[in-house]
Amino acid sequence: MKAITVEPHKPETARLEEIPEPDARDGSVLVEAIAVGVCGTDVEIVEGKYGWAPRGKTRLVLGHESLGRVVDPGPSSSLNKGDLVVGIVRRPDPVPCPNCAVGEWDMCRNGQYTERGIKEIHGFMSERWRIEPEYAIKIDPALGILGVLLEPATVVTKALEHVDVIGRRSFWEPRTVLVTGAGPIGLLAALVAKLCGLEVHVLDRMETGAKPDLVRALGATYHSGTVKEVGFAPDAIIECTGVGRVIADSIQTIGSSGIVCLTGVGHGGVITSAACADIAAATVLKNNVIVGSVNANKRHWYRAGEFLARADRSWLAKLITRRVRPENFMSALERKPDDIKVIIQFSEV
Ligand SMILES: [Zn+2]
Repeated sequence: MKAITVEPHKPETARLEEIPEPDARDGSVLVEAIAVGVCGTDVEIVEGKYGWAPRGKTRLVLGHESLGRVVDPGPSSSLNKGDLVVGIVRRPDPVPCPNCAVGEWDMCRNGQYTERGIKEIHGFMSERWRIEPEYAIKIDPALGILGVLLEPATVVTKALEHVDVIGRRSFWEPRTVLVTGAGPIGLLAALVAKLCGLEVHVLDRMETGAKPDLVRALGATYHSGTVKEVGFAPDAIIECTGVGRVIADSIQTIGSSGIVCLTGVGHGGVITSAACADIAAATVLKNNVIVGSVNANKRHWYRAGEFLARADRSWLAKLITRRVRPENFMSALERKPDDIKVIIQFSEV
């Protein structure tokens, strides 16, 4: 079968190639790939900056934002042939740490977790893949191709859940949330926050085009200036850019007892000791929490599926801005100005 593979930590090694059918040890459920979403992590792996091949192998099958159709549900599965499924990305570490032991692999304590398409387990960019039944999430069939948005939706579902849990340390009646960055994660965060009944504001650099239109179509407010210019002190900020300036402004703009949840992964920038103390002082005096959030566990996968099923499908469809055939996968990894979510489509829904 055909698969998109890469030799991690070696740039320019990605290729579409013939590989053997998926190993039965990968799981008893056999799935035919429909589509795989592309994100910044895939770009980093292809550029040789991230990623690990399975032990004893040199190449990794890419892809962690999956959607497929069950070909063979196997013996011990509640799935049926034809079901649309998405594969959970992370697997608990083998020790396991206390968090992995209770199924909260997203909060792994020792970093020895593995991840499909990223860390030591093959991903989903192959014509067929196998998965353990307990890691296959069945989606509402009415979602069709939109099911490929489930994995990024799990990331924001966890972030907003954690903001809510942290908020409840005291009386917590949040009204406003600011989302920084109107990429797929930011837009899905805005969607989930809206479905939770919050007044949603989204900030991005783009002044016109699909992003402002999508934000307004949600009934949210769009801002194209700086965080400091939004004109209010949000109860929560979901930071999705990873840009140092935006993060610093978010910490200075958050309301009293508000929470800044960081989901973007950026690089660079220098924190001087003075700036560090200023940030700490602001955080102390306003009872703020600055929290990082990554990945998701099964509870978030379930809830994200519920959120997607409740969302306006025509709005979700506008998040998928390009569909690329596997043989043109390199063009899927190029970022074009109008891109929101680009997917590699292996077969029709
Ligand atoms: Zn762990």
